[in-house]
Amino acid sequence: MAEIQVLGSAAAEGIPAIFCNCRVCREAWKNGGKDIRLRTAYKLSDAVRVDFGPDTLSQEYRYQLHSERLKHLFITHSHEDHCVPDLLSYRMPGFSKVEEDNILNIYGNAGIIHKLQKFFWSKPFPYFNGDYTRFRLNLVTLEAYKPVILEEENMEFLPVPADHQIGMPGELPQIFVIRDGSSRALIANDTGFLREEAWQFLEEKKFKFDLVISDCTGGLKDNERGHMSGKFVLETKARLEKMGSVTDSTKYFINHFSHNGQATHAELEAHYNPYGIQVAYDGLTISY
Ligand SMILES: [Zn+2]
Ligand SMILES: [Zn+2]
Ligand SMILES: [Zn+2]
Repeated sequence: MAEIQVLGSAAAEGIPAIFCNCRVCREAWKNGGKDIRLRTAYKLSDAVRVDFGPDTLSQEYRYQLHSERLKHLFITHSHEDHCVPDLLSYRMPGFSKVEEDNILNIYGNAGIIHKLQKFFWSKPFPYFNGDYTRFRLNLVTLEAYKPVILEEENMEFLPVPADHQIGMPGELPQIFVIRDGSSRALIANDTGFLREEAWQFLEEKKFKFDLVISDCTGGLKDNERGHMSGKFVLETKARLEKMGSVTDSTKYFINHFSHNGQATHAELEAHYNPYGIQVAYDGLTISY
């Protein structure tokens, strides 16, 4: 049995969103609990996480993440709700004590790895000689459809292209098919309804998913491209079912919610639960 913890369940602005006085944000202030959402990220184990957004430090304290134990960080794309390079720069001498042999491997698409290299090379830090290895980081480019195997963790990450080209020239955001031990998950937030090429790849592979976490940024609205929600969440599930990758025993969740989706946690549950879809929330641990 594998485990994943949802460290955050919001889109870029969080819920309640900063500065916002919309109905969903007012409800969130009133209700608290599952309606309070930090930016989306996941923990698979002490050593393996997905994404490193602006709420990473809060999540570190709230869920006792101990990022000194983090060994493999997979980044979906460079939007600021998923990757904050400044936080990574605190690994350098003078900001933190990181042992010589404690290397953090960061995996991402070619565009984001290039951006990170540029970021670390251009930072005018003291003690820093233009060498990002001083941060004890190893930057690894992920190629779509090429798996990365983490031997020690008994895990495999397979990047699949997302439909999420929003303001990121030169970058191809990715979602991940993950094998953790003998369990298989699809983590697919920050994507619209997948492009045909990605669907065909998944169809050929005939994965059996024990867990799916699907984008639902727009809540109850019918959004197809860039992010998805409404009937496109249902169409995604239906297509995965049709190809045999999702069955009655698959745990099926939605995540990455925007306050602009016009729905509280209870309203999302009322809408999606009848379709066998559960609504993720901050701190939720899923065994699969
Ligand atoms: Zn996002
Ligand atoms: Zn709002
Ligand atoms: Zn994004």
